[in-house]
Amino acid sequence: MRFVSTFGHGPAVTFRRALFEGLAPDGGLYVPDHLPRLSQGVLDDLSAKSLAAIGTEVLRLFLGDEIAERDLHALVSDALNFAIPLVPVEKAPQEVMALELFHGPTLAFKDVGARTMARLMQHFHDRDDTITVLVATSGDTGGAVADAFSGLSGFEVVVLYPDAQVSPIQEAQFTTLGGNIHAVAVQGSFDDCQRMVKQAFLDGQLRAGIHLTSANSINVGRLLPQIVYYFHAVAQLPHQDEPVVVSVPSGNLGNLTAGLMALRLGAPIEGFVAATNANDILPEYLRTGRFIPRPSRQTLSSAMDVGDPNNFQRIQTMYGADVEALRIDLSGGGYDDVDVKNTIRQVHDRSRYLMDPHSAVGYLALRAALDRRAAPATGVFLATAHPAKFAPIVEAIVEEPVPVPQRLREQLARRPRVTKLAPDLGALRHFLLSGQNAV
Ligand SMILES: *Cc1c(COP(=O)(O)O)cnc(C)c1O
Repeated sequence: MRFVSTFGHGPAVTFRRALFEGLAPDGGLYVPDHLPRLSQGVLDDLSAKSLAAIGTEVLRLFLGDEIAERDLHALVSDALNFAIPLVPVEKAPQEVMALELFHGPTLAFKDVGARTMARLMQHFHDRDDTITVLVATSGDTGGAVADAFSGLSGFEVVVLYPDAQVSPIQEAQFTTLGGNIHAVAVQGSFDDCQRMVKQAFLDGQLRAGIHLTSANSINVGRLLPQIVYYFHAVAQLPHQDEPVVVSVPSGNLGNLTAGLMALRLGAPIEGFVAATNANDILPEYLRTGRFIPRPSRQTLSSAMDVGDPNNFQRIQTMYGADVEALRIDLSGGGYDDVDVKNTIRQVHDRSRYLMDPHSAVGYLALRAALDRRAAPATGVFLATAHPAKFAPIVEAIVEEPVPVPQRLREQLARRPRVTKLAPDLGALRHFLLSGQNAV
């Protein structure tokens, strides 16, 4: 398997190179040069396979010529060492289930991609080299990547986040680890952070000074592991013969892109729903055929406050920029904070199921998609964060305390270490090259 740029100008490269380069030299994102189907034997046998076994089968399609199958299985088992259960939420009017992706160390789905990517980098790492992992976060990425690399020798991690725009819990997850983890509060928006990371990779001075790699959802090493849990979801379905609709709470569209890839690989899923908050760039594109990025707006589901979702390029590459073709596999819906609050309260009252604001967006879009259908279907929404991660918001809505896991309580009690920077490349370049980030 080779990996090519979405802009189509760079060379076709190995997975290893795409993993460490992050962004392709022409400024595009790496994608697999083709998407092979899983064998029918594997597809027929999904429900008998463990998460690690499914992970190995899926990732083998992309990495089989670069990592021995035994090593890959060990690596996937170590990365995905937590449950990803499919949990019943409601039976009527149509069956709704939650794929709970938040049982990893930072209580959000990004642990899946980040932990697998960190171990892939460790596998390929040249022992004499120090690699600086540069990551922009609107909330959850920073914690997941920081936790995934924390204490890993040969790696320094620099997390850029918009100052005062992430929750105290999210912030604690990447500002209190210390050691090889460095937090940078940018005096600007998440879009500024993303732009600075993109510029850093294209900056000659930085490329000459340090070995940089990315860990955002632009990194193909984070994207591919996310394909795995779509197969793990269908493996757990109670009615294997009913059509399945999957709703994906979306921001930068990494999760959704992985879902659409799973479809090409043969996942028995009828269609996907792109669930967004008020930052509804993709649902607008599906409606009008025009993709118009806007400055991001702040919402309760802050990890989805993205005004220019960067994985859109990958979706365009997969579908030949044909909105008609995309509409066959994907519908969309955007929901504002009032809808989200009402839904969290109603579902909790009705079913005692507690959702965080991101998962609630997924639930809302799923219900709308199921209501549009005539025939019965099983609906699955991805529960992307644990409600405790957004405890202050959720508690105010359901008027009950949300138990906070021990690990989080400890993190909140620790002392943060943060550097503040202006929202420009010059400030970031100085920070990275001055060695302030060295241990
Ligand atoms: C990152 C994140 C999302 C959005 O995922 P994308 O892959 O960026 O679309 C949704 N929910 C939560 C909790 C997140 O952390």
